[in-house]
Amino acid sequence: MATGSYGPCVLLKHGEVFLKGRNRDRFVDRLHDNLRVALRGVGGSTWIKSVGSITVLGGEVPVDALVERARRVVGFTSVEPGIRVPSTVEDVTQAGLDVLLDSAEHRPVRTFAVRARRRDKQFPLTSHAMEVHVGARLKGALPHLAVDLGSPEVLLSIQVDRKESYLTWTRLPGLTGLPVGSSGRALVLLSGGYDSPVAAHRAMRRGLACDFVHFNGAPYTNPSSVYKAYALARELNRYQPPGHLHVIALGKAQKQLAVAGAGRLQVVAQRRLMVRTASALAARTGAEALVTGDSLGQVASQTLANMTAVDEAASLPVLRPLLGWDKQEIIDEAHTIGTADVSVLPDEDCCQLLAPPRVSTRANLPRLRAVEKRIDVDDVIETLLDHVQVMLPGDDVPPAPAPVCRAQKEVMSGA
Ligand code: ATP
Ligand code: MG
Repeated sequence: MATGSYGPCVLLKHGEVFLKGRNRDRFVDRLHDNLRVALRGVGGSTWIKSVGSITVLGGEVPVDALVERARRVVGFTSVEPGIRVPSTVEDVTQAGLDVLLDSAEHRPVRTFAVRARRRDKQFPLTSHAMEVHVGARLKGALPHLAVDLGSPEVLLSIQVDRKESYLTWTRLPGLTGLPVGSSGRALVLLSGGYDSPVAAHRAMRRGLACDFVHFNGAPYTNPSSVYKAYALARELNRYQPPGHLHVIALGKAQKQLAVAGAGRLQVVAQRRLMVRTASALAARTGAEALVTGDSLGQVASQTLANMTAVDEAASLPVLRPLLGWDKQEIIDEAHTIGTADVSVLPDEDCCQLLAPPRVSTRANLPRLRAVEKRIDVDDVIETLLDHVQVMLPGDDVPPAPAPVCRAQKEVMSGA
């Protein structure tokens, strides 16, 4: 080993933030704030610093733990565990050699390449000269290896900064997108299914900080859907500074709509009540938009006519990030982001409660308005909001009622 001090670190390459021109600093500050939140409780002190358009992360914590946290922060294109060394030709070259020897010890290596970027123009070698110098030293020490600039088995990447240089050789994909919060706040209508958690995740990746609202059928259904919503929100909160989950018991209001003669329009009438209530709740959470998991035509309640009827009841824009997605694409994404294991659990969904045998695919607005008039919808919303239950999943204990099945208990406890 060379004489310089070595230390593990993680290099985080910025994604779209890099394109933000004059606003870039604001986006980078937000990215770093979110990274700090993601690092809370990681088990030791950490530090972050900017090196051009790269964030360097380190600390007294195993590098794997840093990588795991950083890969959940929206806005980095790549997450690269590496090492940092003093910016001298000798230290960097020796470190490169150590890396290559170490790689060759763990797996068969036949080819390598060196990419260098000199950020500090005082450094005695240009980027290209550095690549040639380090490459020659590595080839000299390990003559059986060949240089392959096209698709090397080990690509040693070197970033030379003023005091420190950084070497990486593994590139893990990050969660590209815009830093959560940089596009504002949204309120996600979160059911227990596959779609709405995936929609929430897409909204976060476009920079929306998300709070959640879940409607359950209480007092006519068991609390299983609340447990699912809680577990889903907790999983989603791992990708953002935690958002609140609002739980609203809709059962009585659903019954009122049925009694008022909603008939085949029951599901759309319920959905309109949900977005009206969510719009009123948004004033409390600071949300500027609602997000749903609708995908055009997926089920009868998600036809264009029904979506239009729902939009008419909302006083905020209703964003539907999954509008053009197939069900299988949504389920695959749910597996990738970690919400599928919760979504698959059985529950008593409030939408099934009082659902007519055949749901209308063409909402009739005058009839919907007439039904709503009969129940005095503003009063109903006020009552619903008076009894909203607020939680911060991931940060507090789960809600009080006992889980209804063992699988749910395991999900709630994070087992
Ligand atoms: P999901 O898989 O998200 O449950 P879905 O395919 O079951 O969706 P619907 O039940 O028609 O579709 O719901 C469409 C959208 O309406 C959901 O994605 C969600 O955003 C919202 N929604 C439905 N039910 C509820 C609920 N109980 N609480 C909050 N939002 C809901
Ligand atoms: Mg559903």
